[in-house]
Amino acid sequence: MLALRPNCECCNRDLGPESERAMICSFECTFCEDCAEAALGGVCPNCGGELVRRPRRPAALLSKYPASTDRVLHQGGCARSA
Ligand SMILES: [Zn+2]
Ligand SMILES: [Zn+2]
Repeated sequence: MLALRPNCECCNRDLGPESERAMICSFECTFCEDCAEAALGGVCPNCGGELVRRPRRPAALLSKYPASTDRVLHQGGCARSA
């Protein structure tokens, strides 16, 4: 089951389980759409995997299967390395 992490690892923007702008890799490294495309080029900076849009969990199921509240933040942000 997806953890549905609550924020972007780059800019710490909130990405709630209802967000249409959350992008994840296969390990659920989680980024906002802006960082995933502009800073990361669609590639996870942690594992090198592709970033895809995170599916939203239906609201009715969130009470039974709540989203993660553990915020993960990438050390030093995610500026594109030169
Ligand atoms: Zn971001
Ligand atoms: Zn990753």
